[in-house]
Amino acid sequence: MASLLPIRYQPKLPLERVILAEPPGADAIEMDVVIVGGGPGGLACAIELARLAKEARDAGRSATDLNVAVLEKAGSLGEHNLSGAVVNPQPFRELFPDLSPDRLPFRQRVTGEAVYLLTRQRAQRIPTPPTMHNAGFYTASICEIVRWLGERAAEAGVNLFPGFPVASLLVEGDGVRGVRTAPSGLDRSGEPGAAYQEPTDLTAKTTVLAEGTRGMLTQAWREWRQVRSPNPQIFALGVKEVWAVKRPLDRVIHTLGWPLPADAFGGSFMYPLGPGQIAIGLVVGLDYHDASLDVHELLQRMKLHPLFRPYLEGGQLLEWGAKTIPEGGFYALPERRHGQGLLLVGDAAGFVDVPSLKGIHYAMQSGIFAARTAFEALSAGSTGADTLAQYDRLVDRSFIAQDLYRTRNMRLAFKDGLYLGGVKAGLMTLSGGRFPGGRIPMPEDAAAPRVVRPAPAFAPDGTLTFSKVDAVFKSGNATRDTIPSHLLIGPDIPPDLAEFYAHMCPAGVYERVGDALRVNAPNCVDCKATDVLGPRWTPREGGSGPKYRLM
Ligand SMILES: Cc1cc2nc3c(=O)[nH]c(=O)nc-3n(C[C@H](O)[C@H](O)[C@H](O)COP(=O)(O)OP(=O)(O)OC[C@H]3O[C@@H](n4cnc5c(N)ncnc54)[C@H](O)[C@@H]3O)c2cc1C
Ligand code: SF4
Repeated sequence: MASLLPIRYQPKLPLERVILAEPPGADAIEMDVVIVGGGPGGLACAIELARLAKEARDAGRSATDLNVAVLEKAGSLGEHNLSGAVVNPQPFRELFPDLSPDRLPFRQRVTGEAVYLLTRQRAQRIPTPPTMHNAGFYTASICEIVRWLGERAAEAGVNLFPGFPVASLLVEGDGVRGVRTAPSGLDRSGEPGAAYQEPTDLTAKTTVLAEGTRGMLTQAWREWRQVRSPNPQIFALGVKEVWAVKRPLDRVIHTLGWPLPADAFGGSFMYPLGPGQIAIGLVVGLDYHDASLDVHELLQRMKLHPLFRPYLEGGQLLEWGAKTIPEGGFYALPERRHGQGLLLVGDAAGFVDVPSLKGIHYAMQSGIFAARTAFEALSAGSTGADTLAQYDRLVDRSFIAQDLYRTRNMRLAFKDGLYLGGVKAGLMTLSGGRFPGGRIPMPEDAAAPRVVRPAPAFAPDGTLTFSKVDAVFKSGNATRDTIPSHLLIGPDIPPDLAEFYAHMCPAGVYERVGDALRVNAPNCVDCKATDVLGPRWTPREGGSGPKYRLM
């Protein structure tokens, strides 16, 4: 059987466009701290900075205001955020000690949980692994969390700029001195159109990259500064739907096994979001072997399984979305997450614990640590790498590094398949992460060969199962179709690779037409799977992409 190596066809990161060694424009906006990304990590950082500044003013230690800006590519806060989500409330307690849980932006407390091993027709309940216990946690919509955190940040005086994607880092010597946003109003050929708005420069003493999974700026900064990690970062793609349901769900459900092939890593989740809604999703490691594997289609098939179908029948699909998750864990963390004038937080740094599928509380906690470090550095008048190194010390001493160290090889064990991986993961849990000793090496996802196979036929019914076109409509994506393509595609794409891209992309951006690749760029929902395995993703005009409300 023919095989493909995606990395052979992947263009390089356009470093020359992202790292700009030029002075900021004359109209540059001057800030103390610029935060790229208004997700839970970026907003927690902004709120903590504002709190520290107020504390210093109230105590008479500072007379001046602190200028903090959050730049977010979505048109409105929350529209580009997607998660499960079961949330560990720990950093909410730290940021809002006076608020009781019923005033936090959660849907409900987790009151029960079950894990199943699925076959095509059956669901065998298995004991919940210790790494997957969720007692004391809450189910939530990350869009609602982000909107709520945005309100708290605005009340505290943070400058929020939704609709402003950052396209470049402005650098001087070894350090970062600010950012440049992407222009808007370009026509299909990339020329300024009637509504053209040129890029804006913002300067800052510290720039915090909180841009989430597979961040372009983070990748570029690491490449520029040669910041390595023991293993490369690896990713999973999650496709998720929110449904209005008639039958309430009383537990948090996770599954392993079908519909995934035994040599792919992943699993599904179904969470209650109050009595009338549920979240259902499937997460698959992007090192899968079968080139025809299609995560969107697998989720559609999965919904027809007897475990899920009874909840969905008679219900209604409210929203659909997709996003990647960094899965490399401890050994994929950058050797430093600070540099001169720069800090990395949340998914951008890779702070996700894969066995528990959690990253929100790590993103927020790392944002809080970044804020404390940046504030101390500003107060001391030095934002050099030595001063900002304090951030790494705070993370390394915290539960973030400790949790990730405990599960350091768990995802990596599954590169040998579900069953052997399951046995190894069990031993790792029992030994507190000490088995098998050392580090299991992993190649990057694009370097995993794919076997070319004919794709199984699937016809969505439009009631329980949906095509990619219908799914993108349910993401709220209404990007104008005259926008230039933001996807950088390699030369000479063979027909089998075009087909692989078409299956990989959950939003139907890629199509094989005859032997050629057709690209419907406006459909893109910024999940970033393409950047991991195929054409490169770059930021496009602010407000493009999905408009999630419930994810
Ligand atoms: C399917 C799925 C299920 C998950 N389930 C859970 C769960 O149950 N519990 C849990 O704790 N975690 C879960 N996670 C992980 C969790 O969602 C993430 O770890 C968390 O959202 C990371 O927060 P962040 O702030 O670092 O990044 P994000 O939430 O991704 O926010 C980053 C923000 O930066 C913006 N941005 C990106 N690039 C730019 C740019 N160039 N310019 C301006 N803005 C930019 C993005 O639009 C986004 O708003 C799940 C993830 C997925 C995908
Ligand atoms: S083009 Fe890439 S980033 Fe956009 S939806 Fe498809 S796979 Fe995701």
